[in-house]
Amino acid sequence: MSSEVFELILQGKIPAQKVFENEFVFAFKDIHPLANIHILFIHKQKTKDLQEMMTTHPEQIQQIMMAIAHYAREMGLDKSGYRIVSNVGAQAGQSVFYTHIHLLAGEVLGGFGRVKI
Ligand code: AMP
Repeated sequence: MSSEVFELILQGKIPAQKVFENEFVFAFKDIHPLANIHILFIHKQKTKDLQEMMTTHPEQIQQIMMAIAHYAREMGLDKSGYRIVSNVGAQAGQSVFYTHIHLLAGEVLGGFGRVKI
């Protein structure tokens, strides 16, 4: 999948279940949830993956992390726990080439490694 799907979501051209938005960050429910709570956090200014973001716009990762911390507090996940993951590149399983952070929570989570997130 290209990056287009997330650009269209940001433009409001395809629907998404928004859970958070501020001037920098947009967050919405993953369409194929892998946990009771599965949210994708993206920056409104596009990069293709976290590696590019950290190289060209390192301030964006702080803006996303602050949004995640805010959302986690609002949802009580700071108490119960949550996992954040970002797939970088095809071998890691990245399928949408628009930087995004997965937040998984709402249940006891399983393993890592060869498990596709
Ligand atoms: P990744 O495989 O790490 O690139 O993650 C891409 C994620 O985007 C997957 O978990 C997909 O389920 C999710 N996804 C793809 N299209 C949509 C969509 N239209 N709305 C919400 N999530 C989507």
